[in-house]
Amino acid sequence: MAKKQFAVIGLGRFGSSVARFLSEMGYEVLAIDDDSDRVQEVANAVTHAVSADSTDEEAMRALGIRNFDVVVVAIGQDIQASILTTLILKDLGVPQIIVKAQTELHGKVLNKIGADKVVYPERDMGLRVAHHLISPNILEHIELSSDYSIVEMKLPSAMFGKSLKQLDIRAKYGCNVLAVKRGDEMNISFPANETLRQNDILVIVGRNDQLTRMEQAYA
Ligand code: ADP
Repeated sequence: MAKKQFAVIGLGRFGSSVARFLSEMGYEVLAIDDDSDRVQEVANAVTHAVSADSTDEEAMRALGIRNFDVVVVAIGQDIQASILTTLILKDLGVPQIIVKAQTELHGKVLNKIGADKVVYPERDMGLRVAHHLISPNILEHIELSSDYSIVEMKLPSAMFGKSLKQLDIRAKYGCNVLAVKRGDEMNISFPANETLRQNDILVIVGRNDQLTRMEQAYA
């Protein structure tokens, strides 16, 4: 199967980082920005880098943008340009359009006009950092939906030497321990009676408010 081809529009911090990483991973990447200095900065790191205004439908057509499997719109500040670009890509028939949103409202508009995925990098990173500040034991936080998440939690000292059965996390907090990571081993059917050790990592799924209650109880 041919490798996916990507285009990234808007080469600010987010867009250029997406473009560079995809390229490092061996994918073909077309990088686009209307600021030629930005284009120059990534030119050596990607397959093609061109200076173009993504709100110019003809320019996008001429670049053959619809032949790319995935187009990432990483225009940050200029919300109008971001929306217009998304609309043009949609009209031209780009199969998958991923757009960075600045605000919730911006994101809502993007969803309405057919963006396949809307990402909020600043908001997500902010949440992650805040979460980590409140509960230092939390190593990872993956949002499954607006209500549910999976967290990776360093075993709090209050759990050392206890078994999952003794801790009874499901009954107390309504959360489920999916797995226990011990060293390089991921144990997805960790015996309920086995004692947990310092350095174990729990992988837990639950409703956000229940996870927070549990995190705070063991913080
Ligand atoms: P970040 O917050 O990720 O650094 P920025 O808002 O600084 O994002 O960067 C967005 C990039 O998108 C800038 O390099 C800007 O030149 C580019 N850009 C904005 N509007 C257009 C457009 N209509 N066509 C192409 N590139 C654009």
